[in-house]
This record gives sequence, structure tokens and C-alpha cells, in this order.
Amino acid sequence: MPDTPIVVTVDGPAASGKGTIARRLAEHLGFAYLDTGLLYRAVARRVIDGNGDPADSDSAVRAARALEAAELAGEGLRDETVADAASVVAADAGVRAALLDFQRAFAAAPPNAAPGAVLDGRDIGTAVCPDAEVKLFLDASPEVRARRRVRELRERGSNAIYAAVLRDMETRDARDRDRAVAPLAPAEDAFVIDTSTMNADEVFREALAHFDAQTTSRK
Ligand code: C5P
Repeated sequence: MPDTPIVVTVDGPAASGKGTIARRLAEHLGFAYLDTGLLYRAVARRVIDGNGDPADSDSAVRAARALEAAELAGEGLRDETVADAASVVAADAGVRAALLDFQRAFAAAPPNAAPGAVLDGRDIGTAVCPDAEVKLFLDASPEVRARRRVRELRERGSNAIYAAVLRDMETRDARDRDRAVAPLAPAEDAFVIDTSTMNADEVFREALAHFDAQTTSRK
């Protein structure tokens, strides 16, 4: 059996369920897990904290180059303001280039000598790890995703309004899908799961079945 780590990519739009499934797969398989959205959120946080403009390329690229792994555990990365600014800095080619090595190094040599890595994001299967053995793309209708996000936000104590969440999500989706560099899209060889009418257990079972089918030759 070759001992190169097995790389699993999980891409998809916001609230498609990719984070939940990626984390669960990593736990089940004993693999390392990287939420790559946190990288863009941490860059946005740095720019905002420095009173910079996320749309200013120089500030965003400087923040991306200065980013340290410890910042991924920072406070306030889950805010909707940060999420919005993250999708702005993420459209910058210089920012994406600055974050590429960290993501690829994580996949090639997962922490704690884990036998594999699960990375979730928007462009992992297409741009960061195009040679990954297992690629998943999770999707769901904007309405279902907005309802899930509202529930999440309310559980965290915010009085989120459905119409506003849906509108913001559609703006962010469009920014992610239409950008020139590494736009959100399923890789040609990705297994696409529409999670609109599925619960987390059903999605997990499908994802795991796909993982098993893709990696049988490794066993
Ligand atoms: O997944 P999450 O909502 O945390 O991502 C925040 C933003 O970071 C996304 O809207 C997207 O613009 C950007 N992102 C990206 N590529 C990734 C992960 C996240 O462009 N691999």
C-alpha cells in the first residue's frame, strides 16, 4: 500500500453542509481536517482590524502573507461581516496565491502524521489539490441553505432575518462563482451531492460510500 496521504476535497457553497461532512469524514477516517474558509476569514479579519478596505488588493495581500496558523483559532471569524469581507479578499489572485502553499503542505503532510487529510472550501478539488483521490461537491438550493444559516445564527444568539440572510448569501455566492480566479465550481471528477432534501446522516453515508469506492485499491 502506498503511504502517500489520501486527500479528500469537499467543496461547495455556504451552508451546503460541507463543513459538517468534512469534519465527520476526518473524524471517522482518522484524517486531519482543514477548513480553508478560515484562512480567507482570518485574512479579512486582519484587514478589518487594521481599518483597511477588504477590496484594496495591497492590504489584502499583505494580510494574507503575514497570516499565522494560530489566527485560524481566533475570535469572531464566524461573523457574517467577516464572511462577507472574506469573499471580497478571496477574489484577489494575490491573496489566493499567498494561501496556496499552506493548504498544499497540509494535504501533502497532514499534522500528527495522519494517514490522510480532508480539506473543505470552494476550489480545493479544482485548484488546490487537483490530483486528490476523493472529491466531493455538496450543493443545495439557496432557500434551503439560507434556512440552515438562519438556524445556525439563531442558535448562536443572533436574531437573523431570513430574507436578509438569503440576499447576503446570494451576493456572496455570485462573488465566489463569478470571480476570475479559482471560482466556485465542481471539479470534473467530483462526486456531486445535492443535500437539499437530505439529513446529515444520509449525506455522510453517501460521502463515505464514495470514499470507499474511490480508495478500494489502497486496501
Ligand atoms: O466557507 P466559508 O464560508 O468559511 O468561506 C468564506 C469565504 O472564503 C467564501 O465565501 C469564499 O469567498 C472564500 N473561500 C474561498 N476558497 C476556499 C474557501 C473559502 O474562496 N477554498
